[in-house]
Amino acid sequence: MKILNGLDAIADYLGISVPENLRAVEKAYPVRANTYYLSQIDRNDPWNDPIWKQCMPHPDELLDYDASFDPLSEQEQTVAPRLIRRFYDRAVLLSTNRCPMLCRFCFRKRQWRSGEPEQDIADNELAAVCDYFRAHPEVKEILISGGEPLMLSNARIKKILEALTSVPSLEIVRLGSRAPVTWPERIDAELVGILSSCRGLWFATHFNHPRELSDAAIAACTSLVSAGIPVVNQTVLLRGVNDQPEVLEELFRRLIRIRVKPHYLFHVDPVKGVRHFATGIARGREILRYCRPRLSSLAMPTFAIDLPEGGGKVSIQENYFDGEKFETIFNTRVKYPEALE
Ligand SMILES: *Cc1c(COP(=O)(O)O)cnc(C)c1O
Repeated sequence: MKILNGLDAIADYLGISVPENLRAVEKAYPVRANTYYLSQIDRNDPWNDPIWKQCMPHPDELLDYDASFDPLSEQEQTVAPRLIRRFYDRAVLLSTNRCPMLCRFCFRKRQWRSGEPEQDIADNELAAVCDYFRAHPEVKEILISGGEPLMLSNARIKKILEALTSVPSLEIVRLGSRAPVTWPERIDAELVGILSSCRGLWFATHFNHPRELSDAAIAACTSLVSAGIPVVNQTVLLRGVNDQPEVLEELFRRLIRIRVKPHYLFHVDPVKGVRHFATGIARGREILRYCRPRLSSLAMPTFAIDLPEGGGKVSIQENYFDGEKFETIFNTRVKYPEALE
């Protein structure tokens, strides 16, 4: 896997010429992809390819001039260096701002333009984070996020996990990584050994389309699961990428087949430069109504939106029947035992 920075390097690798209308987009938002993920693009029809759309810029990124870069108020909810706490028992650690690929729908797109150099968590920051957890034993779970946490070396990851799990009240580590999708060879045997010996570790990955489940990606997930690490998946509902019910049905079905639990399906957050991927909540509900009668509950994720201003996640449910129809069926067919009437 080689990281390619900039449209020219990527177009060169793909053997295409750069469309001129993408140059301005690249000026506003950098472009980065890697040879593994790019190799999954269907060369016969790249422009409509769900993999292309996730890593290649689109002119609509520039239309979104009035939205916020941080609608979820992550910056205000920062309680220690790199640590965001919105909920009672868990907090998010931004372990690095580096990524092997820039997903165009990234909800932390603000980190791309901050002008800050790429940086990983430093020893003194890690110590301050551990101090925070010692002072707040009600926080039981840390979500290690980024950037891509697996841009850190195995030795660094080991050190971070050891520091965190030295806090007795910290029971659960949720490692959020797209590496199984964008960089499967990163899930090497040494890393799997480090992760499987960390107590309370769950691996949360991020497949958005069944086409991303290549043999290599499946092998990466299998090596985690076989080492006893539970793997869950979050999907973002993306217009033009995966907003077809049949596509998500297939994705969720294929994930449970490899013992990866579909955990969340998120509606796109109203982040600047990202909103052209939004489908609307109604579309998400339609997809849930399609999927629920067809899929095992193991395969059904929770559909959720993140409220603005750090209000938290709200889940949206759909059932086999719509509410009114269900009520009628229930009232006409279900007979209570007399004692209950
Ligand atoms: C999403 C999120 C979490 C995790 O919430 P879950 O519902 O447990 O997945 C924790 N902290 C922050 C700030 C979040 O945005």
